[in-house]
Amino acid sequence: MTTATYYCRRCGFKEELGEHYYWRCPKCGAPLDLIYDIEWSPKGQGLARYSDTLPIKRINSLGEGGTPIVKRKIKGKTFLFKLEYLNPGGSFKDRGAALTLSYASMLNYRRVVEDTSGNTGIATALYARVNNMQATIVMPQYAPEGKKNLIRLLGGSIIETPTRPDAAVKVLELIDEKTCYVAHTWNPLFFHANKTVAYEAFEAGFNHGTVVLPIGSGSLLLGVYQGFKDLVELGLLKDMPTIIGVQGVSSAPIYELIRGKTPEGDSSIADGIMVRDPPRKYEIADIIKKHGDIVLINNDEVLESLKELLKMGFIIEPTSAAPVAGILKYMENNGDIEEPILVPLTGSGLKMIDYLYSLIRKMKTKT
Ligand SMILES: [Zn+2]
Repeated sequence: MTTATYYCRRCGFKEELGEHYYWRCPKCGAPLDLIYDIEWSPKGQGLARYSDTLPIKRINSLGEGGTPIVKRKIKGKTFLFKLEYLNPGGSFKDRGAALTLSYASMLNYRRVVEDTSGNTGIATALYARVNNMQATIVMPQYAPEGKKNLIRLLGGSIIETPTRPDAAVKVLELIDEKTCYVAHTWNPLFFHANKTVAYEAFEAGFNHGTVVLPIGSGSLLLGVYQGFKDLVELGLLKDMPTIIGVQGVSSAPIYELIRGKTPEGDSSIADGIMVRDPPRKYEIADIIKKHGDIVLINNDEVLESLKELLKMGFIIEPTSAAPVAGILKYMENNGDIEEPILVPLTGSGLKMIDYLYSLIRKMKTKT
């Protein structure tokens, strides 16, 4: 069925995929890696176009991936915006959900649970439908109503908790032998799906420059990094691009690992990157240290970029404006970076139009 192998760097645990679904090491509890040979033979569309470079070959698809890239200038710099918000469930999380739930379905799981601040819940409920599974989503009560209603509309049940960290604890009570836990912050299958963002950008002509990525759990950064690394190892790309990570001042665990201390401020508007303790934080910090840098943003900076991006016609949620705010600030403080600047616009604003409208209206009355 497959030749990919789960591998634990901490204790050495190894097992081929095809028998069990693991979201972390069953022996020691550390995050797992995946080892497999890859072949570059893109054919077809979407995520399945790269099945020879993914850990499982059969993907039950709903048309995820293959998102367009749009070129625009901001302050004289060339940006390539990859419209990840045009995925079927309105965010890049559809890639990870498609791959993870295809594997769970292969193993005949019929129920799936996930903890999330929103977008991964939508992606999980959506791909549960595709795979004929029942989804239960554990999320904080303050998550946007639009996201919750979309999950309900897709047939998912919701369990609300007081905070996001409570959701991560509650979800563990719901796992049993018939129920798989997506665990996007841990699961290696989930972030390996995000390699396809790098492959698609490469096929669209991106072969040098800078990639700017928001870091919440880090699954996008881990995947995009691995994707470009694959392309270098395959001899298709000469060098890795520079990778700039963006976090918010209210929740900056990777920044703290690298710099030691976070400046004061509030970045709660970028709710999608408010992850306090990403399980793979050391890996993420190592990638940043080796290939780029990290920058922090606050609410005012996110709002300013959100307004600009909406003006340009990109209907995104506030979190998706964070990387643009981050890279503009980075260039102001550190000088020029190599262009073009590739920025995935991660999540759709259509799930929260009332909220977006009130944010922008408030800005107008302020100025
Ligand atoms: Zn282990």
